[in-house]
Parts: sequence; structure tokens; C-alpha cells
Amino acid sequence: MSTHSYDAIVIGSGLGGLTAGALYARTGANVLLLERNKSFGGAATTYRHGALTVEASLHETTSPAVPSDFKHDVFEALDLDDIEFLPVENFHEIRCPLIGEPFLLPHGLQAVETRLAERFPHQRSRIHAFLRHVNRTLKAFNHLQGQHSVLWQLAHAAELPLELWAVLRDIRSSLSDVMARYFGDDEAIKFALAANLPYFADDPDTFWWLGYAIAQGGFLASGGYFIKGGSQSLSDRMAEVIRQEGGDTLTECEVTAIDLDPAGRASGVRYRSAADDEEIVARAPIIFANAAPHVIEGMLPNDHRQAFMQPYKDRPLSISLFSATLGLNRPPAEFGVSSYSTQLIPAWMKRLSDYKHSAELMSEIPDDRIPAMGIVDYSQIDSGLTDGELFPLNVVCSDRLTNWEDLSDDAYRQKRDSWTDAIVRRLDEEWPGIAGAVVNRVVATARTMHEYLNTPGGAVYGFDMRPPEQLGPPGRPETSISGLWLASAFAGSGGFTGAMTSGAAAAKAALGYKP
Ligand SMILES: Cc1cc2nc3c(=O)[nH]c(=O)nc-3n(C[C@H](O)[C@H](O)[C@H](O)COP(=O)(O)OP(=O)(O)OC[C@H]3O[C@@H](n4cnc5c(N)ncnc54)[C@H](O)[C@@H]3O)c2cc1C
Repeated sequence: MSTHSYDAIVIGSGLGGLTAGALYARTGANVLLLERNKSFGGAATTYRHGALTVEASLHETTSPAVPSDFKHDVFEALDLDDIEFLPVENFHEIRCPLIGEPFLLPHGLQAVETRLAERFPHQRSRIHAFLRHVNRTLKAFNHLQGQHSVLWQLAHAAELPLELWAVLRDIRSSLSDVMARYFGDDEAIKFALAANLPYFADDPDTFWWLGYAIAQGGFLASGGYFIKGGSQSLSDRMAEVIRQEGGDTLTECEVTAIDLDPAGRASGVRYRSAADDEEIVARAPIIFANAAPHVIEGMLPNDHRQAFMQPYKDRPLSISLFSATLGLNRPPAEFGVSSYSTQLIPAWMKRLSDYKHSAELMSEIPDDRIPAMGIVDYSQIDSGLTDGELFPLNVVCSDRLTNWEDLSDDAYRQKRDSWTDAIVRRLDEEWPGIAGAVVNRVVATARTMHEYLNTPGGAVYGFDMRPPEQLGPPGRPETSISGLWLASAFAGSGGFTGAMTSGAAAAKAALGYKP
């Protein structure tokens, strides 16, 4: 059995683990990153399937170039300015029978307000008040995060009480609570403001208002962006930072156990490398857990498991996603797809709360009800994913692992294929002729997410973001084990920004640690 020593070890190379590992390595520490898959990035992965380039996750994220963006400091600290964030022209197009004609939601809160007021003139004053509430909440968070200089804070001190009140007033509200306060039962405008709900959750009745205001507010205020070449370029670049600082980054190495010293502090890990299948011991006083807490639990000695899981045991998991990447032999624009991002809301959805029924549809074989879909046409921008031969079109819908459990491999494949067929048929109704151009397809279900990311329930955003029972942040990197920090969507919130922010919080917490 070989043994190696490091200053810190990262279990998993999702964005949270990469951020924690790279930031910690930048302090001069010798870091070991261990990933069980063949490539780095977890969900933030891009790969080839024949002639098709598949982006495994990214539709849109916010730009780290904006100083108030939560990723800004990470990009500065890691000198990631060579990662190119491509702006997306409009946030998205919404095709929803309740709204009527396709509706383009632009970027910038003022432009959003103008466009919404044109389509919903009877709601003009409420739209203004709602977006002002979103903006105040965003600004309060920027204040609280200390993202502005002292001079800026002094200049804006008069606004602070209103901004803090915006946060406090709705600290326990759901998205549905706040939307009902502003718009009553006008469901069309709710769809216009939250058609992309599965980017965060699937039930507006339980989705935390502050999660919406900060994540969606950030998109509406500053715009959506795609990483040129795909998310793999960001993941690989952060792994490179760890190597540049003298650390090691290994793929196909699955961590099986976390060792503790006699005082119960983290002291290292054991892992298996696919290359030689021997158990290897790596020692370090600091461990960043990018794998889900439910996976970390199984790595701990029996007598530490219960205390470790205590903070997480009652927290519901986020939704998973069904993701189909279709390779078209002609650009989707030739069939009428006119936006980078389109939200296709089915006619059976009459209320925003109907989103909660979308994920359960895949428990059955497809009938006349198709889930709401988020569609991205990567050839509308210079994404770096289109080589002129095949044009990738990605479709995501909310999904759950329970939809795919207890099926034989054959039955699973058949059901997955019949859902993909149903989705392609639906696209063809919207954009006639598009089905005939699909020559290649790569499909990932909640079961794929569960198996590939090793995440419980196939959850892709960590825990479900619900209004908190007690005041405090939605998650923390600290665990019951000294020297072990969570660095993933499970330590705060999901998405590219959420996972990276959690990784940064873990690195910061570890800096002050003295074993
Ligand atoms: C289809 C899809 C679309 C999405 N679209 C967007 C979007 O447009 N915008 C956005 O912001 N977010 C999006 N997301 C969400 C976002 O990608 C995730 O929330 C985020 O990347 C999660 O990062 P993470 O650090 O928590 O870890 P994950 O990405 O879940 O990675 C965890 C890693 O840990 C590894 N691991 C687990 N166990 C072990 C072990 N025992 N040993 C070694 N390694 C282990 C796994 O193999 C994996 O690589 C999307 C996600 C999906 C799946």
C-alpha cells in the first residue's frame, strides 16, 4: 500500500471542489484532487459523442466580470481571465399558451420592465414594484457580502434600510407567496418572470423567495452568459491551477474512506485508482468534500456517521434533470428556432405551481402530457460547440431518480428512448421539420446524474432551496469533523455560481484552521 502526503485533499472535481482546491493551492499549499470519473468538472463537463459535442450542463450563468457577481473574486484570485464568457443576446424566449405570442425576455432590469409592461400593460405598476423588490434584495445581498468599497457604501447609505427591509420582509417567503402578493392569480405574468424555474427548483410553493431574487435577479440585471468552448474549459483550467501550484490532479480515482486521527480530526483518505486497482493512502490535515454529504457519510468510521449527517438528514434534495442533446445536420434556425434559449411551456400548465407536476410525468411512459422544457441552441452564438457538421440543441426538463428506478437495463433504455422521441415530436410541432434533421442524440436522465455525479436522488443543485425554519445561511462548509469541509452545491446553493461560491467559502474556512 503506497502512502503520499499533502496539505489538503479534494474528494471530487465538481466546480465546488475545483474552486476550493485551486484557491487553497494558491496559498502555497500542496493539494491532491481526486476524481472518480475520466474527466474533471462533475456536471461542468463537455465531451464528444461521435461528431456531436455535448455540453453536459451549462445553458447560462452570470458573468464574473461584473464586480457584484459572486464568482468575481474567485476569478480574480485564480487569474481566470482567459476563460471567455459569451453574452447571450436575450435572457430567453418564452413560448407559453397563457402568454400568447412568443415573448422575449431581455437583459437589464429596466429593459425587462419595459418589455413586460408592453405585454402586460394592466400590470405596469405591479411589475415596477416587483422588480424594485428584486433589485433591493440583490443590492442588500451585495452590501451584506461586503462587495462594495467603504466610499460606495457611504454614498448609498440612505438606501440601505429599504434594501435590508426587502430581505427581512420575505426571509421566510416562497416564490409563490411573493408573486401572489404582487400579481394575485395572474398566472401569465408569473410564467413570464419564472418560466425557467427548473434552473433552480420545481415547486414555486416551496422554493425560497430569496433564492429566486438573488439567482434570477442576477440574470435579469446583468445578463446570461455561456463559456466559450463549454464548461470543460473552466473545469480543466482550475485543475491546471492546482498542478501549476505543485499539486496533483488525478482522474479515475474513487475515494472509499476518510481516515481520522485519535482526536477525531480528518487525517487523510483512502482511494482506489482504476489504473492499478490498489488501495492508496493519502495523508492531509484538510479535506474538501465535493462529493455529496450522503456519500461522505459512508466514508467515515461508523461511530462518526450520525453526528456528521445530523445537519443534513431532514433536508430535501433538489430536483434532477433529464437532458437530451440532439445533433442536427442543419442549424436549428433553419426551422424557426430564433433564440439561444427558449422555454417551452405546455398547454396543460395553467398555473406556475403546475411545475411541480412536470418531473413526475416521466414516472410513466409518455402520453399527451409533456414536461416544460428549457431548450438551448448553441449555434445561435459563437459557442465553440459547433464544427459545421452537427449543430447541438440541448433540451432539459425536471426529473427524479424515482422515475427510473426498478427498471431492467432494457426497460430503462426503452423508456428513455420513448421520452426522447416524445420530446423530439413536441419540438417538431413547434418548429416543423426539425425532427428530420436529428441525426444523433445523447440523453442523460436522473439515473445518469445519480450514477455519473454520485449524487443522491440524482440531485443536481444540492439541497432543495426552501424558506429556512431558522435564520442563517442556506448551508455552511463546516462539518462535525474538524478538518473536513463541504465544498459543493450541498454547502450552499447549486448552479455554477452557487457551487463555486460554496467552494470559495470552504477554502476560506480552511485557511484559519489549525489542526
Ligand atoms: C443538465 C444540467 C444542466 C444544468 N444547467 C445549469 C446552468 O445552465 N447554469 C448553472 O448555473 N447550473 C446548471 N446546472 C447545475 C450545475 O451544473 C451544478 O449545480 C454544479 O455544477 C454542481 O457542482 P458541484 O461542485 O456541487 O458538484 P458536481 O458537479 O455534482 O460534482 C461532484 C463530483 O464529485 C465526484 N465524486 C463523487 N463521489 C466521489 C468519490 N467517492 N471519489 C471521487 N470523486 C467523487 C463526482 O464524480 C463528480 O465529479 C446544470 C446541471 C445539469 C446536470
